Amino acid sequence: TPPSQPIGRFAPSPTGELHLGSLTTALASFCHIKSIGGKWLLRMEDTDTERCDRQFTEQILMDLEALGLHWDGDVIYQSERIDIYNDYLSSYLEPLTYGCQCSRKDLEQYWAQEEISRNHSLASLAALTDQTSSSEQVSSIDQVQLNRQRYPRRCVAADLDRQQHKLRIQLPDYRIGFNDGIQGLQWDNPQQTLGDMVARRQDGMINYILAASLDDGLQQVTHIMRGLDILPMTTAQIGIMQAARLPTIEQWYHLPLINNADGQKLSKQNLAQPIDTSDPSQLIAEALSLLQQAKVDIDTPENMLRQAIVQWDNTPLQGKQQLNLTY
Ligand code: GLU
Repeated sequence: TPPSQPIGRFAPSPTGELHLGSLTTALASFCHIKSIGGKWLLRMEDTDTERCDRQFTEQILMDLEALGLHWDGDVIYQSERIDIYNDYLSSYLEPLTYGCQCSRKDLEQYWAQEEISRNHSLASLAALTDQTSSSEQVSSIDQVQLNRQRYPRRCVAADLDRQQHKLRIQLPDYRIGFNDGIQGLQWDNPQQTLGDMVARRQDGMINYILAASLDDGLQQVTHIMRGLDILPMTTAQIGIMQAARLPTIEQWYHLPLINNADGQKLSKQNLAQPIDTSDPSQLIAEALSLLQQAKVDIDTPENMLRQAIVQWDNTPLQGKQQLNLTY
């Protein structure tokens, strides 16, 4: 039965503390889902035991509480749900998966070889057409960057033991479209973009987009608002949810990324500063302004959020791929 209420979620990976980028994702998804009368769930994407830390999880929970971003229901921890993901891999998703024994090193050698022959053919094409830049020969460099590292499917027919090896999943090889509430109409062939991605590593670690897809379906999420950095995975997620016979997402929203004053994306990788919740009201005001929302009166976080929900408007974000910090 379809849920009677819209359901949104925030799904941080506790590999670090919240920074202004992840905070704006939390705030936007909270205000948006509340503005349409929905519930806001919190899911810790902590399957990567090497990078996730209980300390970050605790800090994220404390920061959200301090900011008045109160979630509905219990927090879900993906690290406690590995059996569920494995059940899907051996039931609905089984026909799409296969064991693979190619090492990272094997594949790197293969790709390096491919790169050489690709450069040769681009160079000769450039010479033929008298183009100065071989990069102009391809419509989207980004696409090629992704394509170039697709798994060459060496093990697809080998029928290797599924428990002893890493498991790859064959993503749909057709174009999937969706109308993103912020980025507009999107089309992509997930097989072309991601190839047969690793669904479960040899050590048992589950791919994060696979876990997210299954949980979004199982939690009956209807509206997903998240960062634009995950957009290249969205058609894969749609394909996985369909294959797993889970309900589809009603509406997607991919938020522009936050750049610092130097034009660099805020992320854990480039050491974005953790947020400081000693003045939560100020922080909310700042994040709302970054999200191009109407001003709210400085008050308790809860009261500010109440006003922000009433005023919430996606329109100023539409078509934007980045938001710039001025400091
Ligand atoms: N866990 C992901 C992250 O922190 C977000 C995944 C999602 O929202 O679907 O980047």
